[in-house]
Amino acid sequence: MSSIADNIGSVTRRIQKATLQAGRDPGSVRLLAVSKTRPPEDLREAFAAGQTAFGENYLQEALEKIEALDDLDGIEWHFIGPIQSNKTRQIATSFAWVHSVDRLKIARRLSEQRAPSLPPLNICLQVNIDEEDTKSGCTVEELPELVSAIGELPNLSLRGLMAIPDPDQSESELRSSFRKLANALKSLKQECPEAGPLDTLSMGMSDDLEMAIAEGATWVRIGTAVFGARPPKEPQS
Ligand SMILES: *Cc1c(COP(=O)(O)O)cnc(C)c1O
Repeated sequence: MSSIADNIGSVTRRIQKATLQAGRDPGSVRLLAVSKTRPPEDLREAFAAGQTAFGENYLQEALEKIEALDDLDGIEWHFIGPIQSNKTRQIATSFAWVHSVDRLKIARRLSEQRAPSLPPLNICLQVNIDEEDTKSGCTVEELPELVSAIGELPNLSLRGLMAIPDPDQSESELRSSFRKLANALKSLKQECPEAGPLDTLSMGMSDDLEMAIAEGATWVRIGTAVFGARPPKEPQS
């Protein structure tokens, strides 16, 4: 079995190669290590190998790891799971990024609950790009209104869009889902230039990061290729 450090090395090379092939700036794509279900020791090992950004889906599990790893200087926590409105306070105080904001109510609460002494909370809007019934996220059509409203919130920095495309699609369908998200971000930059930096596309996972990078991903969210296969059933928070 290969070590987490080896895995990070191979994923980093995959990212570099895809970035180069897409003719994009080296360094324009960052690796978010998705550490759900992983014990703190695994994250510590990844951190020792140079990985600083970690993505967590379940709040309770994340808070325990954040506490267990608070000696790691420069570790950066990203929340990427569905958000219940009664959980926003802890998300607003404990994370640097939230990739899964999908409605105004949640954005308002995160802004109200983010301490003004902290840097603004970086957020992405999650888009249900393939309009799946079971998946959270807003529609592309809802974006302009949502983005203008979020642009007014003081303690948030609206960085861009996130999506989890339907995995049961052909390669070309998957690619067009990534492209659709990239085009949605382009339109927003023109329509709502004041709303925030809008410089981020959070898309691409272990199996499809190359395609996501070809379509403009700036964060790829990688679990399995960094930490190995997860147990089949994931705990719920
Ligand atoms: C689990 C998860 C990932 C990582 O998936 P892998 O296929 O293991 O790389 C990425 N994004 C989100 C939102 C996830 O929940």
